[in-house]
Order: sequence, then structure tokens, then C-alpha cells
Amino acid sequence: KEITIAIDGFSSTGKSTIAKLIAKKYNFIYVDTGAMYRAVALFAMQNRYIGKNFVDANSLISKLKNISLSFQFNKEEGFAEMFLNKVNIEKEIRTLEVSQYVSQIATISEVRRKLVSEQQEMGKLGGIVMDGRDIGTVVFPHADLKLFMTASANKRALRRYEELIKKGDKVSYEEILFNVQERDRIDSTREDSPLIMASDAIEFDNSDMEIKEQFDAICVFINK
Ligand code: C5P
Repeated sequence: KEITIAIDGFSSTGKSTIAKLIAKKYNFIYVDTGAMYRAVALFAMQNRYIGKNFVDANSLISKLKNISLSFQFNKEEGFAEMFLNKVNIEKEIRTLEVSQYVSQIATISEVRRKLVSEQQEMGKLGGIVMDGRDIGTVVFPHADLKLFMTASANKRALRRYEELIKKGDKVSYEEILFNVQERDRIDSTREDSPLIMASDAIEFDNSDMEIKEQFDAICVFINK
């Protein structure tokens, strides 16, 4: 079945874990749209369009045409890695520093317009599961299935903290919690495509549940 599944929700609610499980089981293409916003944020950082206490949105906007994004499937990892102008940036975009700048970059309408149109282009392939913040509301308002993931801020920060610590990053739980809440605040209050649940989405709260457990419940909806 060539269906389109939209997964939205707050930061670190297990969207990508669920999306990867769905893609594997149903042989769908998984697109991590957060990686695309992170790639643009990295580009902005590299070119000094964003840094501590400054954002030069106009310069970034004028250079958007120089940003070429692509995904390349990594067989060993089992998911597609993010490439920026042909360079693999999968590791760089997962740092706390990128997380601290990305939501500001995601408020810029010109950035959103570029990424949304690229995402809609990928959607034409069918058999796709895409996660983000505006997939069910903006990118694919006619998606066959829309999921909205939530979990308590503490649980989300703890999961993200453990992930980063495992990779050897030196971060504290407190700064991760702050970052998760700050990104949710910016994402929910921005003017262009704020993070809201689509009226026809199904909500899943995994505060007190393993994400893998929830996957079984989600499969029932996919099989319908
Ligand atoms: O999904 P992830 O946490 O990697 O996304 C990073 C950031 O990118 C989000 O906090 C949000 O600011 C932005 N984003 C967005 N719209 C999407 C996906 C991500 O604004 N569809």
C-alpha cells in the first residue's frame, strides 16, 4: 500500500523511533524533516549568520539557493543520513549547539517555504513516513494517517540526555531539559506554521510507556 503517514509532536517524543520502525516494517521511505532544518541551521552557523545573540536572517535568505540537501541511505545504520552540499553532516547536526539554534532558523518563512516544497516533492513517491512539526498540518494535509506524539518534558529530556551521553557528548540534564522546553516554546509560538496538532491526528502519549510498545498500537491503524 502506497500511503503517506505524517508524524508530528514536541521535541524528543520518539517520533523518529516510531517512524523508523514503520519504515522498516512496511518498507516505506522515512524522511526526517528535523534533519533538514538542522542542516540549514548548521549552514547558518558555518557562515556566521547565526551565533550567540545574533541572527542575520537576510544573509541566510539570500544564500538559500546555495543549499542543496539530500538523504543517502546507510545500510548498516538502517536509515538515511543527511548531506549538505554533498557532505555527510549526520553527526554534526545532532549536537546540542545545533539544537540551540535550529528553532530560531525554523521561524524564518523563506527557510520553511524551501524545505516544505522539497518535502512535498519527496511525498510524490508514495509509501512514505515523514516526521516533523508541520507534516500533518502543512506538508501533507491529506496524509492517510496522522500521528501526534507527546510525553512529559522530564521523560523527553531524560531520553535525549541518555542518547547524547552515550555518544560521549558532555552535556548536563538541566541544559537538555531547558533546550527541549525552549524549542517547544519557539516552535509553538512562531507565526509561520506553528506546532499544533492537526484536527484529524491521533494523539499518543508515551510518558509512561515504552515507544516500542506504542508501535504495536500504531500498526493497527496502518493496517486498517
Ligand atoms: O525533529 P528535530 O527535533 O530534529 O527538529 C529540530 C527543530 O527543527 C525543531 O525543534 C523545530 O524547530 C524545527 N522543525 C520544524 N519543522 C519541522 C521539523 C523540524 O520547524 N517539520
